[in-house]
Amino acid sequence: MIEFHDVQKYYGQFHALTDINLEIDKGETVVLIGPSGSGKSTLVRTVNGLESIQEGQLIVNNHDLSDPKTNLNVLRRDVGMVFQHFNLYANKSVLENIMLAPRIVSHVPEAENRERAMKLLTMVGLESKADNMPSQISGGQKQRVAIARSLAMRPKLLLFDEPTSALDPEMIDDVLQVIKTITSDSDMTSLIVTHEMGFAKEVANRVIFMDNGQIVEDDSSQSFFEHP
Ligand code: ADP
Ligand code: ADP
Repeated sequence: MIEFHDVQKYYGQFHALTDINLEIDKGETVVLIGPSGSGKSTLVRTVNGLESIQEGQLIVNNHDLSDPKTNLNVLRRDVGMVFQHFNLYANKSVLENIMLAPRIVSHVPEAENRERAMKLLTMVGLESKADNMPSQISGGQKQRVAIARSLAMRPKLLLFDEPTSALDPEMIDDVLQVIKTITSDSDMTSLIVTHEMGFAKEVANRVIFMDNGQIVEDDSSQSFFEHP
């Protein structure tokens, strides 16, 4: 699903990703950890083309991101992303946030789209908030809406960039529980940047540790947490 071959990423002179080699298979749930500034966010953002790479090859869901002609909009139909700060559309209701991309990008018929969106809201425990505006719900609820929205496009790959870092502590568990549920679907591949070690241990089948723009450890979750 994801292949990095000798990838280098620079911000100006700054070498943000160094010699990245990584293969992630369909269905894997991979957690990316490491100190602040080590390049975790940069790495996940290259996977859906939010950041470009300068050297090496990056293939995601059979799209070559090292080729500037690659159509990122086509890639992103299959690659969802959940951000630290939710990024909901503030002037649209919770339900509309979820229905928008399937309507515009995939032309899902309205009744079916609504039914699917309500099912997703039920799955994240927020069916009663369908007609609320984002400003009327809590941060944890916003993040659960953002997750439902990303799932509405039925992605093959879901990227999470510190999905709980902006949340009040009492909201974190509900969001982690939702992520745990959706990553147990073996058809979907997930790459998750997080500082939640208990969650990583429980949910990941693989843990990648980054430092200073490099992958310094890439191991099964089991052996990573046995030998910290
Ligand atoms: P992490 O997610 O591990 O905290 P990041 O990928 O956000 O790390 O950042 C890695 C390094 O790249 C940091 O030193 C950061 O300051 C730098 N960086 C990130 N984004 C940019 C940018 N747009 N321009 C310049 N430097 C950046
Ligand atoms: P986060 O940890 O939530 O990703 P950051 O503060 O690292 O937040 O980055 C916020 C934004 O600023 C990102 O878009 C990142 O690319 C950009 N950024 C981070 N570091 C730098 C930097 N040294 N120079 C320019 N932009 C940066």
